[in-house]
Amino acid sequence: MTETLFRDDSYIRDCDATVTSVEEDAIILDRTVFYSMGGGQPGDVGTIAWSGNSTAVIDTRYGDAGAIRHIVKPGSPLPQVGSSVRATIDWDRRYTHMRMHTALHLLGAVLRYGVTGGNIGADRSRLDFDMEDTVDKESVSAAMQALVDADHPVRCRWISDEELEAQPELVRTMSVQPPKGAGRVRLLEIENVDLQPCGGTHLRSTGEVGRVNVAKVEKKGKRNRRVYIALD
Ligand SMILES: [Zn+2]
Repeated sequence: MTETLFRDDSYIRDCDATVTSVEEDAIILDRTVFYSMGGGQPGDVGTIAWSGNSTAVIDTRYGDAGAIRHIVKPGSPLPQVGSSVRATIDWDRRYTHMRMHTALHLLGAVLRYGVTGGNIGADRSRLDFDMEDTVDKESVSAAMQALVDADHPVRCRWISDEELEAQPELVRTMSVQPPKGAGRVRLLEIENVDLQPCGGTHLRSTGEVGRVNVAKVEKKGKRNRRVYIALD
């Protein structure tokens, strides 16, 4: 199982680690700063470097038993199992994903409908809403921007199933219901705006989102509105 440093601090750009396994197209480390694809957020890219060598990581995915696989092109130079390496993410790309991801939470807080899907990209990101109403791009953009400009603090914390069970009022306030039986759940809280289980990487406060707007709205069926956002 790979230790996930990005879950405790999404602002760490690099770390030292030890190689625990090497495959033809992947390097597995004992710990990493690379976010593994999940929850609509792409896996990180970057480099793994060791004693004069370096290999590009082109994607990051979960493997078996909690291992995180740093995907490399076949034929890339590979480190030996047991060697010490330095893992460094493409920070500009990741930071854009963090801005987009946090902005999607704001979109979900503005449009209080059920969310049926979503995807994060560097150019634009989207949520699919279970709704029949039309979406007014200008007013939703303005409401999101107001939440950005108010610079609400963003926090993540772990909570156990027992703590959740003891606080039904907390569960009622969540915009997405937490999974049951996982043992513990990671909660994302945007102060006074949103509370929900989420495993992604977020900003420290909403002000870092910068300028955001609704770029496009697609009607994908009677009860599905696909809302795209973009950053300036
Ligand atoms: Zn999130």
